[in-house]
Amino acid sequence: MKYISRKSLLYKTGVEYGDYTLNHIQGCSHGCKYPCYAMMMAKRFGKVKTYDEWCRPKLVENALELLDKEIPKLKEKIESVHLCFTTDPFMYGYEEISDMSIKIIEKLNLAGIRCNVLTKGILPFELSQLSKENEYGITIVSLDEEFRAEMEPNTAPFRDRIRALRRLSEAGCKTWVSMEPYPTPNFIQQDLYQILDEISFCDKIIFGRLNYNKKVSEYKNYKDFYNNMANEVINYCIDNGKEYHIKDGTITLK
Ligand code: SF4
Repeated sequence: MKYISRKSLLYKTGVEYGDYTLNHIQGCSHGCKYPCYAMMMAKRFGKVKTYDEWCRPKLVENALELLDKEIPKLKEKIESVHLCFTTDPFMYGYEEISDMSIKIIEKLNLAGIRCNVLTKGILPFELSQLSKENEYGITIVSLDEEFRAEMEPNTAPFRDRIRALRRLSEAGCKTWVSMEPYPTPNFIQQDLYQILDEISFCDKIIFGRLNYNKKVSEYKNYKDFYNNMANEVINYCIDNGKEYHIKDGTITLK
């Protein structure tokens, strides 16, 4: 594992998951090929040159020290912190990253700040010992392991992710699933309801289309497809008393 040091960590964001965020790792071994927006930005701003370099994560070694300085200054302003926007806090097979992420969440919780976590890795059960105000999420866009190997090659197997999330849910934690970026049928033919059945225990579902991939627009009826899928998710959530959010641009008017 390589290390880098940073000058600051917490920053404000305008998106729906949390008003503040932090990214204590540069790069992500998961190597998603949807493509990964974070990698595209890292390349554009010269932080990494190649896909292979992106897949070799670097941990911010002074992350906890930075939080000790930043939390007292910001804690009155922060409602919640999202981990992470440009990397994955529970990168599959990277115990050091997972340990650091737990310490970060602990530190934020101690200051009365709740966290919102999203991963394509395995959420450790230890998280159930932290604040019950936290929300734990996984990304699930399919149950097909061949599709996973092609599109997100180094992530945790879909059902292992779901199992870890279910354990947290059973331990009384708030859980959610991000079904984004959901693939069109020319990537994979699949039954949305089979996925919804597997994640039926979670409290909230976020659904969103796949962007930045021209194969989507090659699917002739992709707008209808996303309109229909989004409506199915909304109906499922209403019928089952779940919160939901449909990402901007997923539903389009004709
Ligand atoms: S898990 Fe997220 S940050 Fe990591 S490669 Fe995939 S899309 Fe990018």
